Amino acid sequence: MTHHPIRTVLISGASVAGPSLAFWLSRYGFQPTIVERARQLREGGYAVDFRGTSMEALRRMELLDAVKAEATNMGDMYYVDRHDREVATMPAAAFSGELEIMRGDLARILYDATKAGAEYIFGDSIAELTDLDDGVEVRFESGRVRSFDLVIGADGLHLCADWPSVRRSSSSAI
Ligand SMILES: Cc1cc2nc3c(=O)[nH]c(=O)nc-3n(C[C@H](O)[C@H](O)[C@H](O)COP(=O)(O)OP(=O)(O)OC[C@H]3O[C@@H](n4cnc5c(N)ncnc54)[C@H](O)[C@@H]3O)c2cc1C
Repeated sequence: MTHHPIRTVLISGASVAGPSLAFWLSRYGFQPTIVERARQLREGGYAVDFRGTSMEALRRMELLDAVKAEATNMGDMYYVDRHDREVATMPAAAFSGELEIMRGDLARILYDATKAGAEYIFGDSIAELTDLDDGVEVRFESGRVRSFDLVIGADGLHLCADWPSVRRSSSSAI
């Protein structure tokens, strides 16, 4: 094991998880870099719900008001018969939690909250990782090569085979 202090962190993926992680890393003195395969922040997507612990996370990030301002404010769902008479009601909370926002709006709020403290690289992705004694050498698809103390995948669900190969320069690991 190396005991090199971790300062620079490369995060793969700029949706919800990546920028959220960058938010806390930069608050605690790390230098996060986020690489996103899309050429710009991706818009659109589905509605994302907040409830319970995730509401507390928003409060601690001081982003609750920003998310509330863009909430979908979905109402209750009514089932009606052929005469338009209400026969059943599903409360909004059953579908949209305590607070609901479109994924793209959430990603933009997180990006705005982190862009000053994190480096964003759009239109690129990790091609190869080489585990070094004192960090990780990263070769990007663009051909650029950089070193980071730590690399974290936050780029959604993948089959393991989708992730880049990892080479080890020695038997050490971080
Ligand atoms: C219909 C639907 C409804 C959902 N509702 C909810 C909900 O209510 N609440 C909830 O918590 N979750 C919900 N989810 C799950 C949702 O997918 C996750 O919560 C959230 O999007 C996960 O964010 P993420 O950042 O981990 O990954 P993703 O949102 O999948 O983002 C991955 C990012 O990584 C980028 N990327 C991918 N591969 C690479 C690469 N090789 N290099 C660089 N960048 C890359 C992508 O372009 C993307 O920007 C829902 C999902 C669906 C489909």
